Amino acid sequence: MEVSLSDKSNTCLKHRIVEHSRSLGFDLVRVTTAQPFPETQVILEERIGAGLMDGLPWFTLARARVASDPRNLMPEVRSIVAVGISYLCDGEIDRSTPGEPCGRIARYAWGVDYHAVFKRRLRDLHAFIEAQLGRPVDMRALADTARITDRAVAQRAGLGWYGKNTNLLTHEYGSWVLLGELLLDVALPPDPPLKTHCGACTLCLPACPTGALVAPGVLDNRRCISFLTIEHQGVIPRDLRPLIGSWIFGCDLCQDVCPVNRQREPRNHAEFMPRPAVGSSPALIPLLRMSEAEFNQTFQGSPIRRAKWAGLRRNLCIALGNSGDPAAIPALVEALNGEPALVRGHAAWALGRLGGVEAREAMVARQAVETDEWVRGEIELALVVEHSKVDKD
Ligand code: SF4
Ligand code: SF4
Repeated sequence: MEVSLSDKSNTCLKHRIVEHSRSLGFDLVRVTTAQPFPETQVILEERIGAGLMDGLPWFTLARARVASDPRNLMPEVRSIVAVGISYLCDGEIDRSTPGEPCGRIARYAWGVDYHAVFKRRLRDLHAFIEAQLGRPVDMRALADTARITDRAVAQRAGLGWYGKNTNLLTHEYGSWVLLGELLLDVALPPDPPLKTHCGACTLCLPACPTGALVAPGVLDNRRCISFLTIEHQGVIPRDLRPLIGSWIFGCDLCQDVCPVNRQREPRNHAEFMPRPAVGSSPALIPLLRMSEAEFNQTFQGSPIRRAKWAGLRRNLCIALGNSGDPAAIPALVEALNGEPALVRGHAAWALGRLGGVEAREAMVARQAVETDEWVRGEIELALVVEHSKVDKD
């Protein structure tokens, strides 16, 4: 086949883009076309219809349609540069000791909010491409905006393959990768998708404590600890609370068990190392006692800000209730008598689970003055649980 001059120069440009992307700190770089993603659209529509995306009100059928065709975002798009950064870093997973219960945070959230990291680097990459071409280049820089389906772009570009845990798995870094895209009005030669798949492995499905992986590659968002502890702003269903364990923001369990993730060397990018003030496995009791101002200061620039002060303290109550550590009772009693109601109700649940005279007396006292109907209900149920524990003891 005859190769035109412009084909050759676009291949050279692509090589320079890949090289420059790596110098900017992207670990993975490949290119795909700007064609639509009809299969992704069908899958998203089916899952929305089945209620598996409930709790994400912005993820509508209209959004699925728009997100499945890059030209809806940028009509003149000709190709997409798909990029990835490994966020795997060294850090302690659980450093709980008696009297000091500690929690778990999904690894991607140990460091700074990656959206800002991607946006900055993608803008730098765009400036490089404009300088190479000597003309203005139209672009859209995206990172987890849900305005495009990151995983579908990355899969078609050959960055990795869809795992049965719904993550994108890469040969180089397993699923410990964050994804972004640069839409360009430049036609670059596309890379082919990988032919790899999970094979007979199904380890991640039974590893999910809440049964959120309802079939290979199918996630019931409503049961996923990641959704419950981050996006979900309200009450966490009682039957799911014990299954959340010590997770206070996100969950990595279906990635921890994945053989593709084993023996992947941490990249230890500075941005994703644990924040010194919080660490990878923070002590739960001091965090529960944090004021809103302290929360905002401690988590400035962190993805954990997404859970908000009330949401994080709700999660902390659940993790403390699951810790079985009576050292948590005084802080939970303070939460039971503080604001907002969302935290009071989950503190009552945790106190019922931990049990003991101090917990019982605090709940009885609160019951006498509590005006929020839902919190009163939680206290009543917690007292029943606590009472049955006493009977068993
Ligand atoms: S992130 Fe956790 S809760 Fe969600 S599917 Fe994976 S193991 Fe299950
Ligand atoms: S645990 Fe096995 S089935 Fe699940 S994503 Fe990893 S390789 Fe695929």
